[in-house]
Amino acid sequence: MKSIKIKNSDEEIQIGKVVCVGRNYADHAKEMGNEIPDKFPIVFMKTATCMINSGDNVVHPDYSENLHHEVELVLLIGTTVKNANSDEAKNAIAGYAVGLDMTLRDLQNVSREKGEPWTFAKIFDTSGVLSEFVLKNEYKLTGNERIYLSVNGKIKQDATVGLMLFNPTETIKNISKRMTLEKGDLIFTGTPAGVSRVVKGDKLSGGIENIGEIETTIV
Ligand code: ZN
Repeated sequence: MKSIKIKNSDEEIQIGKVVCVGRNYADHAKEMGNEIPDKFPIVFMKTATCMINSGDNVVHPDYSENLHHEVELVLLIGTTVKNANSDEAKNAIAGYAVGLDMTLRDLQNVSREKGEPWTFAKIFDTSGVLSEFVLKNEYKLTGNERIYLSVNGKIKQDATVGLMLFNPTETIKNISKRMTLEKGDLIFTGTPAGVSRVVKGDKLSGGIENIGEIETTIV
C-alpha cells in the first residue's frame, strides 16, 4: 500500500516518510526497563512498503519468535514544515488514524544490546497497519480519547492519548528540528503500556475513540 484512505474524502495522498516515536508513554518506557525520558525520546523510521490497511493480515516473519503489537495514534502531515513553532506544528497536522507498529522484539533487543539500529525489527512487510484517517477539520483531538488493543478479545493495551509525554504539536516541533516534514508523511506517536507477544492465528482489534478502529490477523 502506498496511499492512505481518508474518511469522507476521495483525495489520494501518497505515503511519504514514516517517522516513529519510541518511549512516549511513561508506563511503556517502564515496562521495557527504560527510564522515563525528560527530553524528546527516540525516533526511528518505518517505510511506506511496511504499510497495510486495517483488515489485511500481518505476515509473521519466520526469523523472529517474539512479534509484539504496539497500538498508536498516527498523525498525517498536510504541509511542509521545518523548525516548526507551535502554531506551524499544530497547523501541519492534516488528520489522525489508529495504527499498529508491529515489532520484532527479539531482534530489537539484540540490536539494543549491541548498540546497533533497530531497523530490521521495525520494517518487515506488513509491520504497519493503518485505519482510515479522519481529517482534523472533521474531528478535533482532545487528549481524552481512549486508545486500546485486544488480542483474541482480551484487552491488552488501554490508555488515553493524553498520557503521551510529548503531544502531537510538541512531537512535530521536535522532529522538524532534525528533518523536513512534508505532506503525506506519517508520524507514529508511540505506544502505551501493555505490549505483548502475538502468534500466528491471533486476532487483533483496537482503536482510538472518535478516530477509528483497526483489526488484523497474524498469519
Ligand atoms: Zn511503536
